[in-house]
Amino acid sequence: MQQIKIKQERVKPFVQRHAWVFSGAIVGEVSKSVGIAEVVDEAGAVIGYGFSDPTSQIVCRIFHSGPKPESGFDLGYWKSKILAAKVLREKLVVDSETDSYRLLHAEGDFFPGLIIDVYGGNTAFIHTLIDATKQWLKTWQDILTEMGFTQIYHRHSHDKDGKWISGQPEKEIIAKENGLLFFVDLEKGQKTGFFIDQRDNREIIKSLSKGKKVLNAFSYTGGFSAYAVAGGATEVLSVDISKDACLMADRNVQLNFPKYKKHKSIAADCFDYLKEMDSDFDLVILDPPAFAKNKASVDKAARGYKEINLSALRKIKSGGLLATFSCSQHIDKDLFQKIIFAASVDAGRSVRIVKPLSQTPDHPVNIFHPEGDYLKGLLLYVE
Ligand code: SAH
Repeated sequence: MQQIKIKQERVKPFVQRHAWVFSGAIVGEVSKSVGIAEVVDEAGAVIGYGFSDPTSQIVCRIFHSGPKPESGFDLGYWKSKILAAKVLREKLVVDSETDSYRLLHAEGDFFPGLIIDVYGGNTAFIHTLIDATKQWLKTWQDILTEMGFTQIYHRHSHDKDGKWISGQPEKEIIAKENGLLFFVDLEKGQKTGFFIDQRDNREIIKSLSKGKKVLNAFSYTGGFSAYAVAGGATEVLSVDISKDACLMADRNVQLNFPKYKKHKSIAADCFDYLKEMDSDFDLVILDPPAFAKNKASVDKAARGYKEINLSALRKIKSGGLLATFSCSQHIDKDLFQKIIFAASVDAGRSVRIVKPLSQTPDHPVNIFHPEGDYLKGLLLYVE
């Protein structure tokens, strides 16, 4: 097994269980092979074990702190990690009304490089984020099969295509979330097909929608829209640049509320749409994609967030509510709030934060890895 030696002055965060070893923190270079590495300090004392990745700036992602377990990293070791993640979901998320959830959230579950989402109870989506976790795909598949998952789909990192690695489904997959149903397209959808991390925020939107005219901007498959209808909205508009997403939003609202006639989807660029939109919306949701994919794009992303929020703040009805989000890991809570502050100044409106918003508990934030706290939002009351 390869050893990765941490420079003595850089050891502390890893002793304190931080997961990411950047190339600048190590003595020498990481070998070309992808696999499990033993992470040691300069005196050779073991700090932990991680997945090495010579192609990434993060040369090692630590998944195990302290000495090696007696039986090594065998199937039982990985299985117990996944089962521990399942216990959290069973305690906090899954019930008779919700059968779709994130079973494993990479660093958030002390399992870097691997995401597992569950749809409709028995379908699992394995998303391998690094080559090391792809290497052991068969192991993850065997564990999930043992756990009772009958249909398993896999995609690697940013690859466009994935494939069914067991039990190709005969019907469309339907996710149940807080009693509402959603078609999920694992093959062509974004990420793993559905944004599970917004479940609790959608429930908040439902509770605020009665008698309201609602705009769901960046609506994707219409999650927030269906909840707004469920909450008694008088009218709901979904706007997304993708025509396919709009079709899916229509189908999802139809699936739950076949008699509701006041939902409409518009395929448009929200940057333009928000500038021109009607000024009688009572409730606006802004949930754009991550504008900042890396540190270098933070400034440009901040301008993007400011622009859409400024447009929405200018147009929203007095006494209206704006639920605004950023899922960019590189834009932290403080910066996001500063962006909203700047947009509020320019809009000349009185804006109050009535609730901070964040990701669902099946996307837990590992206390030793605060980078995992990626979804931030503010519910604003605008006069
Ligand atoms: N709110 C959604 C998730 C949004 S994902 C949910 O709860 O499921 C971001 C969406 O923004 C994607 O569907 C993408 O197609 C859309 N998008 C990206 N750029 C856009 C733009 N400029 N205008 C409108 N939609 C855009």
